[in-house]
Amino acid sequence: MKMNNCQSAVKIFFVFLTALFAASAQAQRAKLAIVIDDVGYHPKEDAAIYGMPKEISVAIIPSAPYAQQRNNQAVAQGRDILIHMPMQPVSNIKMEEGGLSVGMSPQEVAQRVQFAKSIVKNAIGMNNHMGSAATADVPLMTALMQELHRYHLFFLDSRTIGKSVAGKIAKEHGVQSLDRHIFLDDSDVLADVQRQFQLALQYAQKHGVAIVIGHPRKNTVAVLQAGLAHLPENIQLVSMGSLWRNEKIVPPKPFILLFSDLSAPTNRAPYEAVPLLRGVPR
Ligand SMILES: [Zn+2]
Repeated sequence: MKMNNCQSAVKIFFVFLTALFAASAQAQRAKLAIVIDDVGYHPKEDAAIYGMPKEISVAIIPSAPYAQQRNNQAVAQGRDILIHMPMQPVSNIKMEEGGLSVGMSPQEVAQRVQFAKSIVKNAIGMNNHMGSAATADVPLMTALMQELHRYHLFFLDSRTIGKSVAGKIAKEHGVQSLDRHIFLDDSDVLADVQRQFQLALQYAQKHGVAIVIGHPRKNTVAVLQAGLAHLPENIQLVSMGSLWRNEKIVPPKPFILLFSDLSAPTNRAPYEAVPLLRGVPR
């Protein structure tokens, strides 16, 4: 049946109103930022992460075998990158090469940060891998923040210890710092990861922002894929970069977003690239 001109004009007007409404609602939504740590070791698990929305940031360990490759892949996708810097824990776990330990001279710290930046070239920030001893140590954090300031990197404190001084010292050195709010997968049990994801959503709704850290693991990927496909209306997935710069988030194409909130086939295994498929109406 053909619509007459008046009907189609009314229809267009309502589509326009809906888009406007969607755009204004979008601006007030709570922000959910997700960082995946320990990237650079396992091709299969990393591929699953890189198959998810590009707002999910990756934190790459500089000494990991695929560190450089993952950096370049993330750049190609427009995905934010952090240096996942190994830092000394309180316990006696062996630390990765190139990490920071308590008692290092500022020169050693500078060298290690420089090395990390030469591998994870396009990082916009750094967060700590382990680091319960390192982030509580004033001289070490002072040396680190001087370097982060030099490279214009922000610091995301993974908060592996309550006594961390990283945020305070960052501020003193003019380095932007943020704190992790929720760990997604301290336990790798599926039900636990699901519960943590729900907790993250509640945290975002209550505080306006939730910064969540997870790892490239099967259950984490499964929970994220399911959870992000059905994100509540009042929560928006944002990149770390946009959060750090406190950018106003405007949906790029409200008209197209109206047609589908389903995740694109590119977000599911086996992660074949299907250009421009997301949200395009049939
Ligand atoms: Zn880590």
